[in-house]
Amino acid sequence: MPELPEVETVRAGLERLIGTEARIARIELMRPDLRVRIPPSLGRRLAGQPITGIRRRAKFLLIDTPAGSLLCHFGMTGTWRLAPPGDERPHDHCYLHLADHRRLAFRDPRRFGMLGLVEPHGRHPSLDGLGPEPLDAQQFTLEHLAQRCRRRKAPIKAVIMDQAVVVGVGNIYAQEALFRAGIRPQRPAGAITRARLARLVDEIRLVLAEAIVAGGSTISDFRQAGGDSGYFQHRFRVYGRAGEACVACGARLTGGVVGGRGTTWCRTCQR
Ligand SMILES: [Zn+2]
Repeated sequence: MPELPEVETVRAGLERLIGTEARIARIELMRPDLRVRIPPSLGRRLAGQPITGIRRRAKFLLIDTPAGSLLCHFGMTGTWRLAPPGDERPHDHCYLHLADHRRLAFRDPRRFGMLGLVEPHGRHPSLDGLGPEPLDAQQFTLEHLAQRCRRRKAPIKAVIMDQAVVVGVGNIYAQEALFRAGIRPQRPAGAITRARLARLVDEIRLVLAEAIVAGGSTISDFRQAGGDSGYFQHRFRVYGRAGEACVACGARLTGGVVGGRGTTWCRTCQR
């Protein structure tokens, strides 16, 4: 499942590809729904519109036009790619035709993704109630996290994965950030000192920023970025490494379930 860094890399790739002069000629939908129904008015609304920006909010991609924005969630297997004539593939659900005759394809074999329409400057149920962006240092602060952890008995891992607390911290990056901050994933959020929460805020930001940089440097070609490459080949420190040696202390990493998700941590380094 693409996490925030993967979506951000696709966003940057699309932005580079499309440039600032692009216009949508038409939108071709191959089916009426993905995980939920695709608004039937999507094509009518956005046809002929200039693209004024390509944004990311949490794990959503937004392609902005003056008449509204195309909202896209990648689900488990969603990808965008440049699809020249003849490059039609199974599970291509949407073709976005640009006025310069290029064509973008949204492909999603498992169909957990989503295509929606956001009114100009409008709201959308999927975007309501989202917490701050982790990379925004003005919004995602120690003060914010400390306030959201206060008196909470829930495991810290569950709290930082709560999209109302902070967006885009999925199962992988939550584990990596907690390892780097030296905090055990199951520790009750309310029992963690401010100093340690400050470290966690920094590590969440760093681990995501590093993953974005890694994505940008290892994937130079947009077709690969939008392809079925799955996760970037990060070197994760704990994710998926239960039973292997801790990179910091050499102890065997422990695997378990925290907040309903598979989790790996070091009993020595994380307290
Ligand atoms: Zn260790």
